[in-house]
Amino acid sequence: MIQKLQYLSPFFKSLIFLLLPLFYYLTGGMNYSQAGQMSILAFFTLITLFTWREVLETKRWLSVLLILVVLLLCIYSGLQVVLRSIFGVEQDDVVVIQALFNTNPGESKEFLAQYARYMVWPALTFFVFFAAYWKLFITSDGVYLKDRDLSAYKHYSKWAVLFTVLLIASHLNKTQRLFNPFFYFPYYHAKWQGEMDQSKLIQQQLAGTNLDKDLATMALKPGLVKNTVVLVIGESDGRNNWSLYGYERKTTPGLDRLKDKLLVLADVLAADGATVGSITKMLSQATLAKPNLWKTKANIITMAKRLGYKTYWLSNNGAAIRGAISVLAAQSDRPVFTNKGRSRGESSMDEVLFAPYQQALADRADKKLIIVNILGAHPAYNFRYPKAYNKFEYEFGDTVAKALFAQGRAPWAVAFRNMYDSAILYQDYVLSQLLERLRSRNDPNSSWLYIADHGQDVSHHNNYSGHNPKVKEMWEVPMLFWQPELAKGLTAETRKWQQRPYQADHLLHTLLGQLGISGTLYDEKHDILSERFDRRAAPPRLIGKVPYDQ
Ligand SMILES: [Zn+2]
Repeated sequence: MIQKLQYLSPFFKSLIFLLLPLFYYLTGGMNYSQAGQMSILAFFTLITLFTWREVLETKRWLSVLLILVVLLLCIYSGLQVVLRSIFGVEQDDVVVIQALFNTNPGESKEFLAQYARYMVWPALTFFVFFAAYWKLFITSDGVYLKDRDLSAYKHYSKWAVLFTVLLIASHLNKTQRLFNPFFYFPYYHAKWQGEMDQSKLIQQQLAGTNLDKDLATMALKPGLVKNTVVLVIGESDGRNNWSLYGYERKTTPGLDRLKDKLLVLADVLAADGATVGSITKMLSQATLAKPNLWKTKANIITMAKRLGYKTYWLSNNGAAIRGAISVLAAQSDRPVFTNKGRSRGESSMDEVLFAPYQQALADRADKKLIIVNILGAHPAYNFRYPKAYNKFEYEFGDTVAKALFAQGRAPWAVAFRNMYDSAILYQDYVLSQLLERLRSRNDPNSSWLYIADHGQDVSHHNNYSGHNPKVKEMWEVPMLFWQPELAKGLTAETRKWQQRPYQADHLLHTLLGQLGISGTLYDEKHDILSERFDRRAAPPRLIGKVPYDQ
């Protein structure tokens, strides 16, 4: 039996190695993308080496190389599992990069001691696997190589060249290349260093903004003693897919029910077409015309803190976003990041924010600014909702699906729309909960504002789904406002406010208005919730570089 295994072709020998990533995947040690990348890397490397060994006359050094490569692949697989069980994320996540590159020997020792238990079984598995693989396919090769008919293996040289080319070709894909440890470590180390330098610089600049002359002019509204301002920032959420804004599918039933107690702002454009650009513009003095001011001028968190607000940053949208957003979050008194998975590859349902949100609401501080950054409907849409909310996932026969088919969309493009709408449905539950939890406190000095960072193109124009700053669906975002006074219902005046045209790069003024902060930095003409709002004060609204209002 063992004899037979030794005569297996390089193809099967390489294939058998994939049992290791498969085992780690089935036991939950690796996710599907890690197991897949590991399999591709291992298969092409091993089949290339095994085939060359059949062809070349001198085999000894190739055998040594094979042993080293197999050992390295085993250790590397084990490392993936260890990192993932410790951090709950893949190796290219920012927390892992930090842990790998931002430690001194003392810390590393402590780290090893603390996490040794996570390393035992991956280490044991790969050691046993390595020993067996070595015994079966590498050391014993010499025995059968001696007495074989070499001419039968002549044709292998063509294959050896082909596999070498395939091995190189598999590295043309950037994700796959960076999975290879020889590329991974240098690339991420340099990248991490660059990001750290950049963040440090911005942190230093922002620390200095506390001395801005403008800040000295700021004051709280007379008599303002208690105030809780909640700002919820959505992700990849376009209002064209909300039933509250007239979409045919009932995607926002929870918020629909609250319609009469909410100000539903119907004509708001995103501050920018991408996450970082949008969030930095909404929360700082940066605008579309001056996008870099967030790096050097005071932002809403600095301003709020200066006037005695306790500031919270609760994010489920954090792990994948580095740099800018984490720099802003770090300005707050309490940054909390709930996402322990990669936002694109794995799911971290937004309801994980409820617990820290509840704690922030219960905080006894008189004045609070609570910023909640949800993951919303960010791709991949099917990772954004639990099964109970897959209402539209298999919906191919309702009016929306029929209309899409009539416009010539492919079934898979409709499937993307279906998953996106299901994500919006779950998000409706999350937003309703975030609002209800504030409402139920019956605090007269509280307010709640929701706006998305940008929308999403989900088969709206063709079969494409994803970020697409060229289309209006990427910019037309929902914006909701609630405060206890609205319980009495909207007045004729506030009903008119709902139609106010606005672009969110001026949101800073609306936030200052809610915080009750006046001064040279607050211009009520840019505050969409102010009686003195004046749209003519703002420059023409833009979608990228294209005017929106014709
Ligand atoms: Zn975004």
